[in-house]
Amino acid sequence: MTPLLQAQGVTKHYALAHGLGERLLRKPVRLVRAVEGVDLAIGRGETLGLIGESGCGKSTLGRLLLRLHEPTAGAIRFDGQEIAHLPEPALRPLRRRMQIVFQDPYASLNPRRTVREIVSLPLALHEKLRGAEAERRVGAMLDRVGLARAHLDRYPHQFSGGQRQRIGIARALILHPDFVVCDEPVSALDVSVQAQVLALLRELRDELGLAMLFISHDLAVVAHLAARIAVMYLGRVVEEGPRDAVIRRPAHPYTQALLAAVPRLDTPAVRQHVAAGDLPSPLAPPPGCPFHPRCPEAGPRCRTEIPRRVALAETGHAAACHLHDGGVG
Ligand code: ADP
Ligand code: MG
Repeated sequence: MTPLLQAQGVTKHYALAHGLGERLLRKPVRLVRAVEGVDLAIGRGETLGLIGESGCGKSTLGRLLLRLHEPTAGAIRFDGQEIAHLPEPALRPLRRRMQIVFQDPYASLNPRRTVREIVSLPLALHEKLRGAEAERRVGAMLDRVGLARAHLDRYPHQFSGGQRQRIGIARALILHPDFVVCDEPVSALDVSVQAQVLALLRELRDELGLAMLFISHDLAVVAHLAARIAVMYLGRVVEEGPRDAVIRRPAHPYTQALLAAVPRLDTPAVRQHVAAGDLPSPLAPPPGCPFHPRCPEAGPRCRTEIPRRVALAETGHAAACHLHDGGVG
């Protein structure tokens, strides 16, 4: 069966705006290479976890798949339809089928709107639904995410972080979408609340048969929900496969470094330094393998040749590393 969502060679370069001095000196435009040639597929009802350090391009990739951004290059197919460069009017009917839950429930909810207004807005926008029927749908959704109907006329600031994220989830799911990007949905929450919100997301996903891209910098959080995991580094997916294969037999030295930084998989990770050296800037990614300057295994080939993605026969997953494709020498 064809996947619900399929990305091929998806790329996003942001042009950095020049200051006056740079314009006067006619400096060339500098590009932030946020996402570089990403291939991935997500089946109906399937959750792909996306992990990687801050700044590696996870949010940009999520927004590209939802066509909140237009890619610089590459193809994105949603339910068989090519959407990479579709103009906004043609995207509109698809918008209701693709939703996002943001990291920061504080910033992503309009402070001047009540819960009723926030959660009913998608219904009004996409289904022209108002009045009693909208009220019924909003009430049912609130029940489902564990908020009381007595909360309908309250404003976001009157809720705790976990409750606000429940409002964000209600807003994203009220239209029963097919695909949801969850962009670090629990990263801003207290550890004690994270597990509750993750459990809710998992229940709703199973109930509604949602496909998900679940983004987090925290492998323990991703492992909770994702059957497959993709590991991103400096704009590229460097390893991808079934969760257990990626976690038990990580093939890419970067994934190995990420795993070594997680103290225990059943407790949320304390942020630690993932690998020696700093993450290089996506303004000037290193040549060859993007990880080579920090990689303990790097050889001469890694400094010049970008590794291609190779399937690993024993574990059924894939990695982009010369170690698995003829060696680093
Ligand atoms: P992540 O979600 O993994 O932290 P992002 O996708 O937010 O990463 O960012 C990837 C890179 O792209 C970062 O270097 C970030 O600074 C840059 N970036 C993101 N959005 C923009 C933008 N609108 N303009 C320029 N650079 C951007
Ligand atoms: Mg992000």
